Amino acid sequence: ESITVSDLAKKMNLKASDLITKLMSLGVMVTINGQIDSDTATILAEEYKCKVNVVSLYDETVIETEKDNPEDLVTRNPIVTIMGHVDHGKTKTLDAIRSADVVSREAGGITQHIGAYQVTLPSGQQITFLDTPGHEAFSAMRERGASVTDIVVLVVSGVEGVMPQTREAIKQAKEAAAPIIVAVNKMDLPDASMERIQQQLSEFELIPESWGGSTIFAPISALTGSGINELLEVILLQAEMMELTTNPKCAAEGHVIEARIDPGRGIAATVLLSRGTLHVGDPFVAGIFYGKIRAMYNDKGQRIKEAYPAQPVEITGFSEGTPKAGDPFQVTKDEAMARQVASKRQELNKLEEAKNVKKISLANFMENLSTKEQKELRLIIKGDVQGSVEALKQSLEKLSNNEIRLTVLSATAGAIVEQDVKSAATSDAIIIGFHVRPTPKAQLLADQEKVEIRKYNLIYEVIEDITLAIEGLLTPEL
Ligand code: GDP
Repeated sequence: ESITVSDLAKKMNLKASDLITKLMSLGVMVTINGQIDSDTATILAEEYKCKVNVVSLYDETVIETEKDNPEDLVTRNPIVTIMGHVDHGKTKTLDAIRSADVVSREAGGITQHIGAYQVTLPSGQQITFLDTPGHEAFSAMRERGASVTDIVVLVVSGVEGVMPQTREAIKQAKEAAAPIIVAVNKMDLPDASMERIQQQLSEFELIPESWGGSTIFAPISALTGSGINELLEVILLQAEMMELTTNPKCAAEGHVIEARIDPGRGIAATVLLSRGTLHVGDPFVAGIFYGKIRAMYNDKGQRIKEAYPAQPVEITGFSEGTPKAGDPFQVTKDEAMARQVASKRQELNKLEEAKNVKKISLANFMENLSTKEQKELRLIIKGDVQGSVEALKQSLEKLSNNEIRLTVLSATAGAIVEQDVKSAATSDAIIIGFHVRPTPKAQLLADQEKVEIRKYNLIYEVIEDITLAIEGLLTPEL
C-alpha cells in the first residue's frame, strides 16, 4: 500500500509543501507526486498526531475462495480496453469492432450499452471489450485494485501522432502490466503515416517487429472499417501468447464494470467474472452491497440463466445501494453471509469516510473543486442581528455562477456555538461569523474537526473573500 504525497497531504488537510519539508527532516526525499509507503505515512501521521488506517475494507472481510484444480482450468476470452488521445478515434474503433460481431448481426444488431461487449469472429473465437473508452474508467478500476484488462489497444491517429493522452495511456498500461497493441487509425487520410507513428512510439519502447521489437502495430481506418478484422486477429494472437485460463467450476467472482439505476429494472450492474459460473438465484456481495441474482442479461439484451468468465453480464437483484466501477464481486454460500459481509463493509466504510473527511476551507475550495468536482460551496452564517444575516445570505447566494453554486445552509442570529460547528463538519461547510465570535467550546471543536470559521465586520469584505475563493485566488488565513 502506498500513497502520493499530494494525496496524503489532502487527507491530512495539510499543504503538500509542508509535508515535503517534514519528510525531508525525516530524511525522506520526495516530490509532490512521489509515492510514500504505509510505514512512512504512519510515522508522518504520528508526527502530526493523526491516525492512519492502511487496512482496506476488503482485507477485513475476506470471503474464502476455492482453490483451482488444474484439470478444471480452461482458456478464456481476452478482455481488452481501448485507450488513446481524444479524437484519435476510440469511439469509432469500438463501433467498427462492434459491427464486426457475427452474433449481433444474426440477432438483428440490437447491442445494448452495458459497459462491455463481446465480439464473436467468424472463426467462433471471442473477445470482450470494455466500451467506456479512455483512461478514466481504467484508472477508476485500478484505484480499487482491479486489473480487469488483459490487453490495451492504443489508438493513435496516423495524422496527429503521439499526444499527451497517448503518453498517459502508455504509462497506465505499463503500470498495469498490460501488453499494448498499437492501432494506427485514420489510415484512409492521405496525411496518415505509419512510419512516423512507429518512430514516435519507439521512444516509449514500443518497437515494431520489423525493427526488431515485439509490439504489434495494426493500420486501421475506423471510418471505413479497413484493417479492423486484422486488428481483431492480432488481439487473438496476443491473447493466445498470454495463455489466459480460468476455472469456470467454482463460485463466481469478478468485478463490477458499471452500475446504474434502470427505470424499469432498478439497480443494475454490469459484471465481468474472472472465474466461476454465475446463476440466477446466487447470493452475492458487490463492493459494500449485497443481493441475490434476480435476472441476468447479456450484451445483446437477452435474458440468460448462466454467465461465464469474461462474458459481460448485467445483473439485477441488489437489496439496496449501487456499487461502483471496479468493486469486487463475489458469490457467497448463502444470503445470510452476503448480508453479513456487506453490513460489515458498510460499517468499515463509514469509519473510513469519517477518518478521511477533508474539511473544506475557503482557500482550498478551488483546489478541491478541480480534484473532487465539488461544485458547491456551503456556508453557515451567524450574525448579530437577523436583518443583516438575511441580507448577507441574499448577497452571497447571488454570487453563484454556472460552475459553482453557493448554498447557505442556515443563516441565524447568535454566537457561533458547538451545534454550528457540528453541522459544518457533517455537511463540509464553512462558518461565516458576522459581528459574532465562536464560544470557547465551539472554537475548540472547530480546531479538532478542522472546520473553518471566518469572522467579518463588513459585508463587502465577506463578498470579496467569497468572490476570491470562487475564483481560486484567496490565500489561506493565518
Ligand atoms: P475519440 O475521442 O478517440 O473517441 O474519437 P472519435 O471516435 O469520436 O473520433 C474523433 C473524430 O475522428 C470523429 O470526427 C471521427 O469521425 C473521426 N475519425 C475517427 N476515426 C477515423 C478514421 O479512421 N478516419 C477518418 N478520416 N476519421 C476518423
